Order: sequence, then structure tokens, then C-alpha cells
Amino acid sequence: MLKIVLLGAPGSGKGTQGAELATRYGVPQIATGDLLREAVAEDTELGHAAKAAMDAGELVSDETVIAMIRDRLTEPDAENGFILDGFPRSLAQAEELDSLLTELDRPLQRVIHLQVDTEEIVQRLTDRGRGDDTEETIRNRLAVFADQTEPLVEYYESRGLLTPVNASGTIEDIQARIVEAIEAA
Ligand code: ADP
Repeated sequence: MLKIVLLGAPGSGKGTQGAELATRYGVPQIATGDLLREAVAEDTELGHAAKAAMDAGELVSDETVIAMIRDRLTEPDAENGFILDGFPRSLAQAEELDSLLTELDRPLQRVIHLQVDTEEIVQRLTDRGRGDDTEETIRNRLAVFADQTEPLVEYYESRGLLTPVNASGTIEDIQARIVEAIEAA
């Protein structure tokens, strides 16, 4: 049973590390960015509403992502645990997550904070080249992270749930640090 949040700036490696953890621990990786991109690709009403914010590097509304997470966490495969990647991203989302997990009697076990230098992040995102990885959008996403998501570090720290992990280096090294952080908790 693994119930964790991967917290970190865009490009900190949440997606890559989350996928490896999902295989290792046999729990689903739940990434709001992926769920949103699927909705955009399928041209659903939700996808339509989310697209402009995503293209601009802004946050999609709390209401939208919270509804999405509630649906996903109540799927049977999330009963044995989950790796949340890219959610929560605001205090409102973190508070909603707390009440949802209390309701489901599946409290959060740990929040892994992936820490990387801004310079390295810009380099990684530029190399990745996804549609929303243009220089201007990257800059905006980093500003949005600092402004709206970084307060979660203190939020989870004060609850004794936060473990910082150095997220520079090889994928294998970073994975080993995360596994150590999880098993030590
Ligand atoms: P990255 O971590 O590189 O920013 P993601 O795939 O996690 O990539 O997110 C891509 C975009 O999807 C974000 O810039 C934002 O517009 C939207 N998004 C993803 N997760 C959330 C969330 N929890 N709340 C609001 N918007 C989100």
C-alpha cells in the first residue's frame, strides 16, 4: 500500500519517477496533466474548458481537477494505493484532497518533494519539447508553481508528511533516493 504525492516544479521528473514507482509498487500513477491532455485529445467538454489554461501555462480551475481526481481515486485500482503526480497544485486542492482521503479512509502516507535547480528545469523542459514547453509558457508555469504550488511545501511540512529529495542526477539515482525516502517513512 503506497499512498503518496509527488510534489515538484514542472520538469522536476514527477512523471518519469512516478511511472517507475507505479511499476515497483503495483499502484496506479494518477497524473492530472495526463488526464487533462486525454480530455483535450478526446475533445470533451472538460478538455475544452481546460485547453486555454494549459496552453498558457496557467492552472486549470480547482473545481475541474478536483472533480477529476475524485472520480479517479474512487476507481477500484486506487483502493490499494496511488501515486499522485501533479496534484495537488494549490492549497485549495490540498485541502480537498485531505477531506476526500479522510472520507475514503485512505490517508496520505508521504509527500515526496522533488528538488531541482531552475536552470536545470528550463533545460529539461526545452529538451522535452511538449506543446506547452515553449520558453514563454515554461516561464509562466514556473511562476505559477512558485506562487500557487510552493506553499504546499509548508502545508505538508507542518503535517509531518514532507520528505525533500534531491532530484538532480540519473533517473536510477533519483529513484533510489525516493525509494529510500518511502521505506524510511
Ligand atoms: P508539468 O509538471 O510539466 O507542468 P503537467 O502534465 O503536470 O506538466 O501539467 C500540464 C498542465 O496541466 C499545467 O501547466 C496545468 O495547466 C494543467 N494541470 C495539471 N495538473 C493540474 C492541477 N492539479 N491543477 C490545475 N492545473 C493542472
